[in-house]
Amino acid sequence: MYDSDVIVIGGGPSGLSAAIRARRVRTYNLHSSSVMIVTNTSPGGLADWTKVRMTGDGWSHEKGEIIGKLMNDIKDYSIPIKNEKVLEVKNQGDTFTVVTDKNEYTSLAVVVATGMKMTWNEREHFGDRLFGTLKGYRFMEDYFEKLCEKEEGKTIVFVGTDKLDKTVELFQKINQGRMEIKKVIDEGNNIRGYEKKDDRILIATEEGKVYGDHVLIDFESYQLKAITANLVDCEKDERGFIKTDKRCRVNDIGLFAAGDVTGPPFSIAKAVGEGTTAGLESYRYVYRRKFGKEAPVFAFYPIHQDGDPTYFEIPELEDHYRPKLLADFKVEDEKLVFREGELENNDKNLALLRLCDGKHTLGEIRKELGDVAKTIEKLIHAKDLTLEV
Ligand SMILES: Cc1cc2nc3c(=O)[nH]c(=O)nc-3n(C[C@H](O)[C@H](O)[C@H](O)COP(=O)(O)OP(=O)(O)OC[C@H]3O[C@@H](n4cnc5c(N)ncnc54)[C@H](O)[C@@H]3O)c2cc1C
Repeated sequence: MYDSDVIVIGGGPSGLSAAIRARRVRTYNLHSSSVMIVTNTSPGGLADWTKVRMTGDGWSHEKGEIIGKLMNDIKDYSIPIKNEKVLEVKNQGDTFTVVTDKNEYTSLAVVVATGMKMTWNEREHFGDRLFGTLKGYRFMEDYFEKLCEKEEGKTIVFVGTDKLDKTVELFQKINQGRMEIKKVIDEGNNIRGYEKKDDRILIATEEGKVYGDHVLIDFESYQLKAITANLVDCEKDERGFIKTDKRCRVNDIGLFAAGDVTGPPFSIAKAVGEGTTAGLESYRYVYRRKFGKEAPVFAFYPIHQDGDPTYFEIPELEDHYRPKLLADFKVEDEKLVFREGELENNDKNLALLRLCDGKHTLGEIRKELGDVAKTIEKLIHAKDLTLEV
């Protein structure tokens, strides 16, 4: 028994893309997999803090646009999001256990999409009292000069890894004692978020609260290491980024990684590309584990060139695959309406839905209701039912 076929850790563009691609299957003879996202804060990650460029000015998105689009699919495919912080991923042999600050979840596959820096609610304050070293040091020099002139006597808090001293040094040169300087070293597990209070900004940390008039996040210091990668024991490069192959596989037993956590370049296009790859590959892995054969999906290889065509073949459902109904159906007079399908509103179908709760096996359902295979097949085709071991 496990909780979800695939668990995705991280709700940035790579994690959301991975979850969508692991879940969204429109081919008729395929079962979709169950997917869960665990992320420590509301989805978004580092993306969408400001207007973002995908390739250049011709392809750009306003703040919130990219995550908004991805979230539409997450809702549409009923992918649950757990707002929890992952502390550790344990390899248990044939499953993984994802340990969070509140729970433990098990799965066949895990996608690590934790970025390089854990995010909290920085997005809410970005461009107001909070800023970052995104535009390089040349830009920062001008920015620091204006800030020190305008905010003399006030406090600036630098947030970054233990490598942020270079940025602080540059600031001190320009500052000449005009502003007070504080530092918060982000170790990947000690910051809890930001709050605006009486025109000041406070940083909640494990040790207590640090107040400032301005916060400057030193992204350059994070780029030297992925402080979010330490929750998983696997091969990393000399800077701590997770090593993967081209298919985003960390190993061949169901661990995948995507996005900033696999190293530079840091961009949304790369995050979405790797997330998509990790999502499809985790689906493929899960399918192989469940049904003992390749998933006939065009994205993997041309499906009709080897052996017999598999257009209509639906793998046999065995008792140990538990059916789990997605909760979002409505009762409309004659019908039970789902996302993409509907069933007749009668006692037998309602009883079936009650039993499709992930706790009853197919064998138990059949024993109680007789042969309901056709109805279950219909639900699977409509992607309203998901199967778990
Ligand atoms: C201000 C800014 C502007 C940018 N502009 C652009 C741009 O214009 N174009 C562009 O292409 N790129 C841009 N980038 C870079 C881009 O945003 C990142 O490369 C991209 O967001 C990486 O996506 P990701 O999903 O890999 O990681 P992230 O977006 O960092 O998401 C990772 C998520 O995982 C969560 N997480 C981490 N550890 C844990 C844990 N232990 N438990 C639970 N959750 C966890 C994090 O909190 C975060 O929510 C910009 C970045 C910033 C900060």
